[in-house]
Amino acid sequence: MTAANPYWSALTHRLVPYVPGEQPKVDGLVKLNTNENPYPPSPKAIAAIAEAAGRLALYPDPESTELRAAVAERHGLGIDNVFAGNGSDEVLGFAFMALLKHEQPLLFPDISYSFYPVYCGLFGIEYRTVPLRDDFSLALDDYTQSNGGIVFPNPNAPTGRALPLADIEALLRRNTGSVVLVDEAYVDFGAESAAGLVRKYPNLLVTQTLSKSRSLAGLRVGFAIGDAGLIEALRRVKDSFNSYPVDRLAAAGAAAAMRDEDYFAQTRDAVIATRERLVAELAKRGFTSLPSAANFIFTTHASRPADELLAELRARKVLVRRFSAPRIANWLRITVGSDEQCAALLAALDGILG
Ligand code: PMP
Repeated sequence: MTAANPYWSALTHRLVPYVPGEQPKVDGLVKLNTNENPYPPSPKAIAAIAEAAGRLALYPDPESTELRAAVAERHGLGIDNVFAGNGSDEVLGFAFMALLKHEQPLLFPDISYSFYPVYCGLFGIEYRTVPLRDDFSLALDDYTQSNGGIVFPNPNAPTGRALPLADIEALLRRNTGSVVLVDEAYVDFGAESAAGLVRKYPNLLVTQTLSKSRSLAGLRVGFAIGDAGLIEALRRVKDSFNSYPVDRLAAAGAAAAMRDEDYFAQTRDAVIATRERLVAELAKRGFTSLPSAANFIFTTHASRPADELLAELRARKVLVRRFSAPRIANWLRITVGSDEQCAALLAALDGILG
């Protein structure tokens, strides 16, 4: 890292940036470290992007009307219930800016998406973490403190464990004084979406992404679903920041991908089937994995430390992810790749474990 320049502001000095997983600059690696989809995007999305490219001289629709309509249709909601942004990271950032009460702390799990504390630092939001239970389950009964908002992923990341919708609804019945933000980046791989509850609970905001189940991580599109009042708050922040977060190519490709239900179902089912096979193969090799409702597996080995396995896999050109938080430092998060990628992972593990 470069040394701090004395012209940096006090804010810049305080910021601890988010560190994304490695995006390698060389080819030939088996990339199972950042939960991308191993399958290409829908051919209809690619065709829509090619068509939109002819109109790149023009600004995009600042309201992303077509894309929001496609999302609204899929969830049986109105376009006023949908906000679109440049990846769900950006949508989460807008939500943190627009919707949290600053008099009380934001609550989120101690083991969770590491972007949440980064946004808290950036926007000056106080937060408290709520420990997961010993089995890494997220118990919403533990969220009893008065708070300025509650945020959690469902399924959680990096554990992959999912919550039943009934637990989320019980929290919403109890916690009416602040916004409940459910980050559903991985929901399509086996959890129940809370999107249908936004009609009943005006303090619920659900975020989703096209990066995972729609194979469009490179396009950077995510969205939020909520009561029209919450969506209006997000829109105000967006208009004060960047009126056009979703560019023409992204809006066109994402709308087409949202409408290609058959392709979506086919690739999602393939990922889920591979996940179940991979969990079984890892178990044969001495790994214990948490039940996963996501496109990744959180796993620990009976005798080999995770940092050693990470390094030995890297030496064999297989990238997986490890997090440094002490509670999970002996665990690896492995993205469910294609069958060929998973076979390469298992062959590398066989070489390492002997
Ligand atoms: N939420 C969680 C829990 C994630 O793991 C990710 C992916 N890193 C995101 C949100 C953001 O995804 P994107 O910005 O690609 O939509």
